[in-house]
Amino acid sequence: MAQLNDNYLKLKAGYLFPEIGRRVKVFCEANPEAAKRLIRCGIGDVTEPLPPAVIAALHKAVDEMAVRSSFKGYGPEQGYDWLRAAIAKNDFRDKGLDVADDEVFVSDGSKCDCGNILDVLGAKNKIAISDPVYPVYVDTNVMAGHTGEANEAGAYGKLVYLPCKPSNGFVPAPPKKHVDVIYLCSPNNPTGAVATREQLEAWVKYALENKAIILFDAAYEAYISDPAIPHSIYEIPGARECAIEFRSFSKNGGFTGVRCAYTVVPKALMAATRAGEMKPLHPLWNRRSATKFNGVSYIVQRAAEALYSDEGKAQVKALIEHYMGNAALLRKGAKKAGLKVFGGVNAPYIWVKCPAGVTSWQAFDKILGEANVVITPGSGFGSKGEGYFRISSFNSRANAEEVARRLQELKW
Ligand SMILES: *Cc1c(COP(=O)(O)O)cnc(C)c1O
Repeated sequence: MAQLNDNYLKLKAGYLFPEIGRRVKVFCEANPEAAKRLIRCGIGDVTEPLPPAVIAALHKAVDEMAVRSSFKGYGPEQGYDWLRAAIAKNDFRDKGLDVADDEVFVSDGSKCDCGNILDVLGAKNKIAISDPVYPVYVDTNVMAGHTGEANEAGAYGKLVYLPCKPSNGFVPAPPKKHVDVIYLCSPNNPTGAVATREQLEAWVKYALENKAIILFDAAYEAYISDPAIPHSIYEIPGARECAIEFRSFSKNGGFTGVRCAYTVVPKALMAATRAGEMKPLHPLWNRRSATKFNGVSYIVQRAAEALYSDEGKAQVKALIEHYMGNAALLRKGAKKAGLKVFGGVNAPYIWVKCPAGVTSWQAFDKILGEANVVITPGSGFGSKGEGYFRISSFNSRANAEEVARRLQELKW
């Protein structure tokens, strides 16, 4: 009798986005006129087309594939040397950070990498995650059997939840107790919060003392505008001994549909064998990539490389400015409605406190019904997200302006 992976049965049904879809559908069917003016600010996907430098690189690479002499078959599983070098130089070494080309592993997405990294980590680790949180960190640990069952509030046994709230700037401090693996996401999805240097220093200190590993998700790094906020965990001394960093071209270059990202695994990063001997993780991740992955397509890696050209960099900057211009408008609109607003300064997400006594889903229904705008209920990201909602600034400027206007007119 073939057995399935029982851990999958512990997963709570993917509730958030299907439920949003269901409520929007019901509303639109009942209100066809309002449906015509519906604006979606719910999903964390970019809206603007790819930068011209990327389009040119894609066309060129396609043409190379059409000719025998420049055709490319399988590439290195870890990524082409020229892309690994461009990443390590531009994103790290030019900024004074010590990352070698072969510590960069190119992949088809950070979502995949965040899940795949569990392949090289042991099954008994105590795992800490923020609440609210990007659901991928939790669900991949559930699938891998690292958790107990979910309780009624949706919290899984064995996971250590770190509450994010206004009093800690939505960035949790290290726990008093021991954990082995910590997920940190800065700039944060969903709260739009960023970790300060001091907060990251406290985490690196904790990780070194506890021989723990920080999994640092920097997918929104390009959105940081405050010069005091670290863009990389490797800006913190000691992080090479305790942190893996995930970066993605999805949110800076608009690659959500193109698919390219990378993970940095420093050679100095060690973890314990079952017998307690410390060994580096780098060869394990390298081996995993070579065995389970056949690399990102040549065409896409050339497209990613183009983001590091002078034109590419200028075009990414313009994209970020576009989305952050939206964020500023949306923040203002929500504030004018008397709502308490967080995030949206160093991140494309705005995290809004519901008025007293209003739940996340009640806010969702009101904003859908009265403003015909779709937002994301905070409770979908964890129990500490209850009483908040997330507005995404991934939109056209015209839509952002209109949403800001409608939010501002809402009477709570
Ligand atoms: C969008 C996003 C990513 C990027 O995922 P890709 O698979 O590279 O598209 C990673 N982490 C978070 C928190 C995100 O919101």
